[in-house]
Amino acid sequence: MRTLITGGGGFIGSHLCERFLAEGHSVICVDNFITGTLSNLDGFRNDPRFSFVGHDISHPLQIRGPIDNVLHFASPASPVDYLNYPIQTLKVGSLGTHNTLGLAKAKGARYLVASTSEVYGDPEVHPQREDYWGHVNPVGVRGVYDEAKRFSEAMVMAYYRTHNVNTHIVRIFNTYGERMRLDDGRVLPNFMGQALRGDPLTIYGDGSQTRSFCYVSDLVEGIFRLLFTDHHDPVNLGNPEEVTILEFAQEIRAMSGSASTIAYKPLPADDPKIRKPDISKARQLLGWEPKVNRHEGLARTLRYFQEKVASEQTRKIAKGA
Ligand code: NAD
Ligand code: UDP
Repeated sequence: MRTLITGGGGFIGSHLCERFLAEGHSVICVDNFITGTLSNLDGFRNDPRFSFVGHDISHPLQIRGPIDNVLHFASPASPVDYLNYPIQTLKVGSLGTHNTLGLAKAKGARYLVASTSEVYGDPEVHPQREDYWGHVNPVGVRGVYDEAKRFSEAMVMAYYRTHNVNTHIVRIFNTYGERMRLDDGRVLPNFMGQALRGDPLTIYGDGSQTRSFCYVSDLVEGIFRLLFTDHHDPVNLGNPEEVTILEFAQEIRAMSGSASTIAYKPLPADDPKIRKPDISKARQLLGWEPKVNRHEGLARTLRYFQEKVASEQTRKIAKGA
């Protein structure tokens, strides 16, 4: 099979490229590296079944030959990134989704889009089930991401209903692991970077807000299973183990043996107060369940960031900073 993955140079996308190659697919990775990193491809860049297309998927893309699967994962994903690139985020969620759907339709390919728990906004239903319509501020700062993803879901369903494209929608809840950028601004790279450098861990608000963190290999397994089903409605994938951000900071600090203090900063606008996936549908439909518990996933990710921080410090010393 030949599988095209947009955003394949990003955190999740690069793990997907690796997984599809391991399953024997040829993989075409499409990325413009607005938030991704070339080194994410290091482990498989030389595989003869891997090819890279440098392209902004908000513009149409033509690919020669057959394609069996199109996975649309391109989009800034961290709140800091999508606030830095609001218009690019809206375009890749809308035009990028349209372009990738057009490609899937032309090739008769399976299609899967990366949606998000952010479609539920600041939720008034807890845990979040797929039939909850959400509570999103369309004109707030996060609206550029949330509404792009909501539009994306609507466009995907329209292509399924109108053109009978074999579409799939995964609603991803906070996922972490190796190949996240140390400076992407999300809570885990921030806390790990700060703990490893001995800087204060920055908690936004009072730290009572919750998130539920899923290790990347679990997510990739769920995506792989979902793609080969005949299910077209959205499916939540995430780890329902919920934690407050204060507890999360303390956990990372203890795990890294850091003496960092905690610094409280203002809570960003529209920051969801609670988030936890209801994964009953994924359990039933895919026989899927997260396997990597938070302690194990965090330990693996911490080893990755230890190397990143060490090489950052070596570079600083070399520059005489
Ligand atoms: P990431 O920033 O590491 O990866 C996104 C990739 O998309 C980057 O390589 C970036 O360069 C690329 N990209 C962005 N706009 C593009 C464009 N116009 N053309 C081509 N490439 C473009 O983020 P991630 O965490 O790996 O997220 C991947 C996908 O999963 C995103 O769609 C995101 O919305 C979704 N998602 C992620 C999470 C999470 O917790 N990581 C949660 C929910 C949804
Ligand atoms: N957060 C924090 N300190 C940080 C970064 C984030 O307290 O240095 C909080 C943020 O306000 C949010 C949670 O951690 O409540 C998760 O933030 P993240 O940016 O990782 O993603 P989100 O789940 O909000 O999309």
